[in-house]
Order: sequence, then structure tokens, then C-alpha cells
Amino acid sequence: MSKYDRVYNFSAGPSVLPLEVLEKVQKELLNYDGSGQSVMEMSHRSKEYQRIIDEAEVNLRELMHIPDNYKVLFVQGGGTLQFAMVPMNLLRNSKKADYVITGTWAKKAYKEAGKFGDIRVIASSEEDKFTWVPKITEADIRPDADYAYIVTNNTIYGTRFNYIPETGEIPLVADMSSNILSEEIDVSKFGLIWAGAQKNVAPAGVSIVIIREDLLGYAAAEIPTYLDYKIHADNGSMYNTPPTFTIYVAGEVFKYLKSIGGIAEMERRNKEKAAILYDCIDSSELFSCPVAKEDRSIMNVVFMTGDAELDKKFIAEAREKGMINLAGHRSLGGMRASIYNAMPKDGVEALVAFMKEFEAANK
Ligand SMILES: *Cc1c(COP(=O)(O)O)cnc(C)c1O
Repeated sequence: MSKYDRVYNFSAGPSVLPLEVLEKVQKELLNYDGSGQSVMEMSHRSKEYQRIIDEAEVNLRELMHIPDNYKVLFVQGGGTLQFAMVPMNLLRNSKKADYVITGTWAKKAYKEAGKFGDIRVIASSEEDKFTWVPKITEADIRPDADYAYIVTNNTIYGTRFNYIPETGEIPLVADMSSNILSEEIDVSKFGLIWAGAQKNVAPAGVSIVIIREDLLGYAAAEIPTYLDYKIHADNGSMYNTPPTFTIYVAGEVFKYLKSIGGIAEMERRNKEKAAILYDCIDSSELFSCPVAKEDRSIMNVVFMTGDAELDKKFIAEAREKGMINLAGHRSLGGMRASIYNAMPKDGVEALVAFMKEFEAANK
């Protein structure tokens, strides 16, 4: 076990944060940068806080190479509020939008959007229990759709889009809650990207929204003020009190990612970690992964023994060894190891070592 008796936490979210960041936050907790106060206690209108939120945005822009014609917003309400904010803001002409259903979160987003317009499913892998990701092209999308919607990484089912769909002039909207900052992506291919922070960025409490400027300003007059992206864009995410502490921690995570060499290096590490785990599963006679190889997530790795009792035993014994939160989502059973950015390679190696030991003992 590691310094401070910390466990290896494979939680799908809220989830592990980089130890370096936690230590820095701890160090600064009582007196942030000589201000004599904690960030928690700081006015969001103070000079000190303005610098914190400005730096967070600058560093995120740098990490993701966000073009100048995109706004970066920090919004409360978690991922679930984005299921509604996206259609409320982006159904601006035909009120049609086309969704790709690759799991629970895509389905929820689709259902919520149905309250606001004419929403269609253009592809789904539900009949195969979401074990693969459909390939879609511009031809699958209604030509007058206001946007197309995907979930780039499916947290529960352990799949990911290994390509960015071509959507022509139709804005592509992506929920990247569980894989933002995990690998290089071309932001310019998207009209809007959003991500809840608590999977790969920060504690719960904020969603990051990256929106192309020409998509702002279409919310209907009667929608609640807070739900209009333009309000947040025009006010630098400070229309009202933002989740100050969460944004501060996110900013520290961005600094940490820069310090290790940015997203290219993070991607290299993530692919290495995922390969170690999938290789173990694929060479095992006990464990298997139901996901199509080419669509496997590098963030959430789903596996099982095929025997629910044995799965339970594995999860319980792993917990005793300091590896926690390995149970699969309640809708799926089996196991899931979430190996987000902050999960060290040591954690994955410890898991693999235990999997081998468990297999030998339970032949
Ligand atoms: C966790 C998650 C959500 C929901 O986030 P909440 O903040 O709990 O509402 C949405 N989409 C994806 C891909 C997720 O992993």
C-alpha cells in the first residue's frame, strides 16, 4: 500500500485524483498563496480567485489545444443537467437532433432531449448489451438536424469511440465525462464538448463545457437564465457564485498534467496501463472482457469470471488487499476497473498480480 495508507481506488466516479494535486491542495488549504485564507473561504469576486479561474481556463485551453473561437464554461448541475442544457440551447432551427445510443448515459441524454424537440436514434448497440460502438457517417444524420450527439467513452460498458464521426456542417456534440483529457482530440471537429468533472478532472460539482461561439445565443427567452450557455460565456462562468473549490482543484489537475508533458504523455501512460490490464484478461482462462477489441475503453475496463459468486469473492478479496471499488455497475454485474488519468501504473500492476493469484487459487 502507498504513502498515507491510501488504497488503489478503481471507482468510476467520483474517482482517484493525482496524489501530487491532493498534497498541494492540502498544503494550501489553510493559507492559499499568502492570502491568509482557504480557497473555500475566498470571495469569487476577489483578485486571487479571478486569477485561479483564469489560469484554469488558460491551462485547459493549452492542454486541449482549444481554438480561439470556442468558449470554455464551468457550469454546476453535474452531467445530468447537460442532458437538458444541450437541447435547450442547441435546438435552434428544425428542433431535430440525432443521437447515437451506446449506453446508459446516451439513453438518458436522448430521453431528456425528447422533452424539447424531435429527437431520433440513428444508431444503437443496445441489442448487444452495448458491447461495441456503431460506425456512423454524415449520411446517417438528418440533413436538417440541429446537432448530432455521442458519448465518446461509455463509463458503464467500457467502450469508447475509436473515431470521431464526420458530421459535415451539422455540429457534433460529445459527452466526454469519462475520457476528457485522457487522450489527444481535435476540438475543432466538435460543436460542443461537455464533461462532468468527477471522473477524470476534479471533485464533483462542476461540468466543463467547450462550445463553438456560433452556437451561443439560441436559447429560448423563457428558459431559466442559468441554463443559457450565453449567460455563462458572457460572464466568464461568474454570472453567479461558481463552485469555487472544485474549479481550483481542476486548475491544479491541469497544472499537474502540463508538468508531466501534457495530454500526449497522459495518453501514452493511459494506453500502457490499459494494455497491461487487457493483456492480462485476454491471456486468462478465468476472466474475460465482453467488449469488441477495437472499441475497448482505456478508462473503464469491464471484465468478469462468468460466475457471479466468484466475481463477488474476487471483489471482496481485492478490497482486503487495498484495491477498492472493483464491482461492475449495478446494471451489469461482474467487475469494472476504472483506470483514469490519476490511477498510477503501480495500481494496475497490483491488480493484475492479484488477478493472476486469484486465477491460480480458483482453478
Ligand atoms: C457519470 C456520467 C454522467 C452523469 O454525470 P452526473 O454528474 O452524475 O450527472 C454522464 N455521462 C457520462 C459519460 C458519465 O460517465
